Amino acid sequence: MSEKAIMAAELAWPDFQAKVKDGKTPILIPLGSMEQHGHHMPLHVDVLLPTEFARRVATQIGGLVAPAFVYGYKSQQKCGGGNHMPGTVSLEGATLVATLRDVIKEFARHGGRNFAIVNGHYENSWFITEAVDIALRELRWDGMRDVKVVVLSYWDFVDEKTIAKLYPEGFPGWAVEHGGVLETSLMLALYPDLVHLNRAVDHPAATFPPYDVYPVKPEWTPSSGTLSSPRAASREKGEILLSVCTAGIIQGLRDEFAPH
Ligand code: ZN
Ligand code: MN
Repeated sequence: MSEKAIMAAELAWPDFQAKVKDGKTPILIPLGSMEQHGHHMPLHVDVLLPTEFARRVATQIGGLVAPAFVYGYKSQQKCGGGNHMPGTVSLEGATLVATLRDVIKEFARHGGRNFAIVNGHYENSWFITEAVDIALRELRWDGMRDVKVVVLSYWDFVDEKTIAKLYPEGFPGWAVEHGGVLETSLMLALYPDLVHLNRAVDHPAATFPPYDVYPVKPEWTPSSGTLSSPRAASREKGEILLSVCTAGIIQGLRDEFAPH
């Protein structure tokens, strides 16, 4: 079995079993969404990015990457443009909770004890928390009391210094970064063939009232689908984000999964 064998679904079962059964190998589960990301990027940005972070981190810490969740919770207007947008295909919250709960319990049944949920879609956040809580409770009922789950979103590892470097004209906040400099720069660094900057729409960062309305008001979402401009995105910024976030995630998981 090659050292590079870190994508769980690419393994034959004896190799999977060898990696998972003693519980020491951290299992990283990327979570994304199928969601519009403007005119210049594909619908799977939120899947491609956490999957690649998980792969890079797993290579460094001897982890295993589970197949990614390719659908996520419903896009919200003030952080993802809204679920009404064409191309955005989402799960009900209860479906996401139940599915992630099942997957954690299944990997635990095979021996997995250390998990990291690597999130790439903000709207998934509380549903992840709920799935983890229920999974841990039900595993305790089955006598498994040593399961640990780290929950993280990769953008939370971008520190103030990096933000200052990447946003010299001012940081709009992660909520309106949907399809903006962060995601576009990372995509330019990792999947340049999937980015069409010439189709990007330049506009000021979206502003919203301090409340939500349902049904949504489509006119609140910029017609581009992005919530801020990707104009200042670059491959170089993407490389910086890749190294800062990868290093931060590695440090966090090494701390949490250290034997004690
Ligand atoms: Zn996104
Ligand atoms: Mn998203």
